[in-house]
Amino acid sequence: PAQEAEEPPPGSPALPTEEPPPPPPGEGAAAAPGRQRNPQGSGRGRRAPREGGGSAARRPRVTVDSSKAKTSLEALKISLRQLRWREFPLGRRLPCDIYWHGVSFHDNDIFSGQVNKFPGMTEMVRKVTLSRAVRTMQDLFPLEYNFYPRSWILPEELPLFVAEVRMMKDSDPSWKPTFIVKPDGGCQGDGIYLIKDPSDIRLTGSIQSRPAVVQEYICKPLLVDKLKFDIRLYVLLKSLEPLEIYIAKDGLSRFCTEPYQEPSLKNLQQVFMHLTNYSLNIHSGNFIHSDSASTGSKRTFSSILCRLSSRGADVKKLWSDIISLVIKTIIALTPELKVYYQADIPAGKPGPTCFQILGFDILLMKNLKPMLLEVNANPSMRIEHEQELSPGVFENVPSPVDEEVKVAVIRDTLRLVDPQKKKRQAMKLLAVTYCEAGSLCLLMKVMGLIHERESMNGCFVCYRCQTLEHTAEAAEELLDASPAERGGNGAATSPEATRSPEAALPSLCLKQVFPKYAKQFTYLRLVDRVAALFIRFLGVKGTTKLGPTGFRTFIRNCKLSNSSFSMASVDILYIDITRRWNSVGVDHRESGMCLQAFIEAFFCLAQKKYKSLPLHEQVTSLVDFCECQLAALDEKRTVCGRG
Ligand code: ADP
Repeated sequence: PAQEAEEPPPGSPALPTEEPPPPPPGEGAAAAPGRQRNPQGSGRGRRAPREGGGSAARRPRVTVDSSKAKTSLEALKISLRQLRWREFPLGRRLPCDIYWHGVSFHDNDIFSGQVNKFPGMTEMVRKVTLSRAVRTMQDLFPLEYNFYPRSWILPEELPLFVAEVRMMKDSDPSWKPTFIVKPDGGCQGDGIYLIKDPSDIRLTGSIQSRPAVVQEYICKPLLVDKLKFDIRLYVLLKSLEPLEIYIAKDGLSRFCTEPYQEPSLKNLQQVFMHLTNYSLNIHSGNFIHSDSASTGSKRTFSSILCRLSSRGADVKKLWSDIISLVIKTIIALTPELKVYYQADIPAGKPGPTCFQILGFDILLMKNLKPMLLEVNANPSMRIEHEQELSPGVFENVPSPVDEEVKVAVIRDTLRLVDPQKKKRQAMKLLAVTYCEAGSLCLLMKVMGLIHERESMNGCFVCYRCQTLEHTAEAAEELLDASPAERGGNGAATSPEATRSPEAALPSLCLKQVFPKYAKQFTYLRLVDRVAALFIRFLGVKGTTKLGPTGFRTFIRNCKLSNSSFSMASVDILYIDITRRWNSVGVDHRESGMCLQAFIEAFFCLAQKKYKSLPLHEQVTSLVDFCECQLAALDEKRTVCGRG
């Protein structure tokens, strides 16, 4: 496909570019000696060489189940063709390496491989939950989290919203704010409206049944061609533990279709002026479809950066602010994601590993400060748009701008999670322990390719298969994949062997930002440590809420109760906080204390124990204290166990 040879688009000047370029032809993989002696293969069960020959063709191809891919199917198919991976559009009886889900982790029941969704992500990025998670971080680190507009959760915080706005107006009569009301779980601008005063909130029945977030409206956005626009950036959460985050070098900019004016009572209703949603603006007569990345109502982010750069803007600083915003937002989400993760994939039980592409919606203020609008768990991966050919007649036509950005994001996500690459890396590690005959089988054992092993004249045999030949073939197939990495002795380089799809691809469009910049953000991962305590005391695997006994055990094991804080007070604290959270909570399936309630209780305890310190220091001190008590307890138990 034309995309294959394409270089990534320009732009993203400050994003790290440390990714090594693909190996030039002639470098890289060397052919295995065995293969050279017998290129057609021999022996029982050997597969016929596939089209194209060379080691790439003999490499076991990565299998992908695309049966649940939904609207991302087209972009996924193009990516798989570029990678020459095997697609199973109707699913497969045998397990696949990768499952591509269109909606959530639960689209399919899977017990192995990798899936492109984390359990709980959809719930975590809903407007209310995201606002709560960011609020917790704002309480601890107000300056670090000032990239999210001040928000209140409705209906529960309506009185607080009214009171705070009144107070701020009283203290600064020149303040003429605008607010935006966004229903929870809404998308595509659905149900959103602007207000000038808290009394304008539409207190219909729906606010009770469908909670919402009311947020300060950013009145002075950066304009391009007099239009408001926002940025959709693609972020890959490659792993939760350890945390690994990548950002795509390019994204999309979605434009309003009416020139922007600061909000006034006259223009509050004009959605084409204030809301940048593609799905809304496409219905405006002014929407411009363009095949160019730098014109029209949907452009690449890199084209905006080029334009800003030519105006003398500091785009390097802008990128670094965006990277911080992304890392900090994910740090706010990880504690609860870990709770969901352990409930759905308990440690020690078979389950897939997860990764996920997230869509970050960011608005640039006039002074170039990026503000987070929302995070999408299922960013649209459609690469076509609807066009009205004649009145009432619509047709789906390809959208080159979408294709350029989205196919690269999916393809490079797959390259980063490539299970074959992981195996080759594991192999590289194990090559250190390479020792004559037995090591090969040991290697495969570790990689789960053979089932049981026993030493037989220095070699191992796979018991389930009962044949040495089988394992030898599997090993050959694996070693073929990257013979150079085997640390083999003087294997020759064959041009055939270098014909890997990787070599024809452009450099990765996804750049690692965490743990690359981990050091400067580690101190923010405080709530993660609180969540680790919560998970430890959850007890029964598969739950997300802490029972009263679990909470008491936490207090006792961490030695937090004393003469001035009796166990009876502990119970009262548990009941008070849990009841309040359960009355506003979204998840009523389980009873008990949710993580957010535990965090509130923990902050309460920290304030009680370490009075007069700033909140984040109080919480840090209490976490240190609890971890120390638990480490001592574990140590004692180990010693007793040994005894
Ligand atoms: P949805 O999920 O329905 O798209 P968003 O939170 O993305 O909801 O809001 C829709 C649009 O409203 C955004 O794309 C943006 O143009 C505008 N918007 C949202 N929040 C704000 C805000 N705080 N200030 C200014 N504009 C906003």
